Amino acid sequence: MTRLRGKVSWFGGPNDTGVSPDEGLAFIYDVDDAPHLFLDEQPPGTTGLARRLAADSAFYIACRWNYDVTSKTELLQTLARVRAIKTGRQALAYPADWGPHQDTDRLADISPALMTALGIETDDEVEVTFPVQQGVPAMPYESIVISSGHGKYVRGATGIIDEVDEARRVVERVAEMLEARGVDVDVFHDDTSQTQSENLDRIVSYHNSRERQLDVSVHFNAYVETTKPMGCEVLFVSQSALAGELSSAIAEAGDLIDRGAKKRTDLAFLNGTDMPSVLIETAFVDSTADADAYQSCFDEICESIATVLGGKGEMVTEPPPGEVTEPPPVKPPPTIRIDVEVIGDITIIVNGVPVS
Ligand SMILES: [Zn+2]
Repeated sequence: MTRLRGKVSWFGGPNDTGVSPDEGLAFIYDVDDAPHLFLDEQPPGTTGLARRLAADSAFYIACRWNYDVTSKTELLQTLARVRAIKTGRQALAYPADWGPHQDTDRLADISPALMTALGIETDDEVEVTFPVQQGVPAMPYESIVISSGHGKYVRGATGIIDEVDEARRVVERVAEMLEARGVDVDVFHDDTSQTQSENLDRIVSYHNSRERQLDVSVHFNAYVETTKPMGCEVLFVSQSALAGELSSAIAEAGDLIDRGAKKRTDLAFLNGTDMPSVLIETAFVDSTADADAYQSCFDEICESIATVLGGKGEMVTEPPPGEVTEPPPVKPPPTIRIDVEVIGDITIIVNGVPVS
């Protein structure tokens, strides 16, 4: 698998006047080769496939694919995952053409529909992972800043367990697990602030001072003392899909109720950090059921967070920009020919098993 990062523009469809009316595509020669990418009718005044692309509905992408590595036929059967750096949104796209030209200084051209879905504009940055199949885990983040909520002197909630103590444990363990996945991680715990506003400012400033793709804050919830299970939730402003994925993964790993993704526009952390961000409310400190589940599934919970954010643990190599590569093909074992002359009774043993 290859991951590339660079600027993006859009192409294709009836309104792409940068493409001549009769221009074709590099490896799709007929609408029937990929009917899901095209309009039902050829737009008036055009004859080529480039202008017939369903620019407003289909998700397609052009990169400078290396045909020696992935043939034109194979390109039609694979997908690329495209993630917008600015918004953190991602989607799968069909390879549809070769380009953009090296001179443009761009990595990829994508459909206007995909641009809208990702919430980006021309010359914003994207990451392209290729090839992928439907149903694979989300594209892992390369760099994350993760901090614990509240601080050493500005304490959070207490109940059966203590929010600040446990948030710090989760942050440390998740950071270790992310590092094991090759993710660059910065960790922050506030050991100095004396007031809540100082604490919030300090946490947000730390996040914004680092190079990263994602900001994560770890908290624990509180309500009223109860023996009943309460559950896990993940708060967001723009990252609804990621928040939902995290909440369900944590809930499953920790045998907690999945309270799901919750949009919150009143939180200093989510509003103040410049990158896509999520705030994890791992479990309720004042629920006996939650505290028990959390304590007994601590590693599983941390692992589930690390897996959603950093992938299953496979390392991704970074080839030079503009090239799409994949590992060399595995050589088939050589065929061994054995000539024997048989005199009398013999037993031939292959891998310890006698054959007659
Ligand atoms: Zn909190």
